[in-house]
Amino acid sequence: MKNIKEIPHYLFGSGGLSRLSSFLTERRDRRAPGMQAGAVILVDEYFERHPQCLATAQLDASDHLRYISTAEEPTTDGIDRLMTELRAAGVTQPCAVVGIGGGITLDTAKAVANLFTNPGAAADYQGWDLVKNPGVFKIGIPTISGTGAESSRTCVMTNSRTGLKLGMNSDHTLFDQLILDPVLTATVDRNQYFFTGMDTYIHGIESLAGSYRNAIGDTLSETSIALCRKVFLGGDMMSDENREQLMVASFLGGRAIATGFVGVVHPMSAALSVVLGTHHCVANCITMTAMDEFYPGQCREFREMVAAQGVTIPRGLGAGLSDDHYARMFAAASLHEKPLTNALGPGFREILTPERMTGLFRQM
Ligand code: NAD
Ligand code: ZN
Repeated sequence: MKNIKEIPHYLFGSGGLSRLSSFLTERRDRRAPGMQAGAVILVDEYFERHPQCLATAQLDASDHLRYISTAEEPTTDGIDRLMTELRAAGVTQPCAVVGIGGGITLDTAKAVANLFTNPGAAADYQGWDLVKNPGVFKIGIPTISGTGAESSRTCVMTNSRTGLKLGMNSDHTLFDQLILDPVLTATVDRNQYFFTGMDTYIHGIESLAGSYRNAIGDTLSETSIALCRKVFLGGDMMSDENREQLMVASFLGGRAIATGFVGVVHPMSAALSVVLGTHHCVANCITMTAMDEFYPGQCREFREMVAAQGVTIPRGLGAGLSDDHYARMFAAASLHEKPLTNALGPGFREILTPERMTGLFRQM
């Protein structure tokens, strides 16, 4: 039985972003001796070109603003470089770390906040419960919905040397405060909105089809899936109402992850990410195109959602790769023993043989 920690504070509603400055003022006014008045503000690069979207987030002259590139998903080296840059700019004990963006920016904010109060490098904390000291106060503000990074207890990072894609799974990785403002997701590209939104649907279906179950996690997953059905099968997925619903689904889905495990989709998607560099959410959708043997009803529903929203899932990625590619992808997927056991039982290696997995990748 896992002992679950939850997000202590969240604020939900249109226009919520305007409350950021009052949260930061409170941190500055009540800061401990030695703590700096400035906060570290990490913002998705999209908003560098579109600052008007964040106009109500008033920053202080002492704050350190950095735009986060989303060309690549977070790496341990990239996080270490950012820490070095921030320290070189004189930031040692910020009053808060704020992440405003998608999963990449939120995960970067969580990792950075933990590294200000824990010695060493990002890679030292890849694993479970390795973070010893509470991080700097973290505020998360998602601008796209689906990964659940806003409410989960991890921040996913790839270690370029070992190829390990693993987060700092820790109670200290949870945000201390969330601002869930659905206005912020209005500008997301439609395909990207669908890919990221599907992450919460896929987490849900994988958890519910698995053998490790938790009654609270199941309820959160069921509710999250029901909201996804409303969003993706009920008119325009990006209407004001549906953007609000998807933000709730993502928040609940992120909390559900803490109680259970995913299944076959995430390990195979992770293999596409590690070997081919495909981003997490689009890789999940590509994987879903070949998952009928394991999740028949769910794949049918997924295709209905794709058709209803008129989005395009990239095709042909896994066809015609070299034997070396398939071998590396098999190895990368097989590392995820817990999810594969959750989905297929302890004998998963007899079911997902190299030949069978290669056949599945070829269909993608
Ligand atoms: P992302 O951060 O990858 O961003 C996707 C794209 O959307 C980027 O181009 C970004 O610039 C753009 N974007 C974001 N908000 C926008 C807005 N409001 N308007 C216009 N463009 C916008 O988004 P994601 O799919 O949420 O995150 C994927 C990452 O999350 C991966 O690194 C994955 O590993 C991680 N992840 C983390 C968890 C967790 O629990 N911590 C869970 C699942 C996935
Ligand atoms: Zn996921």
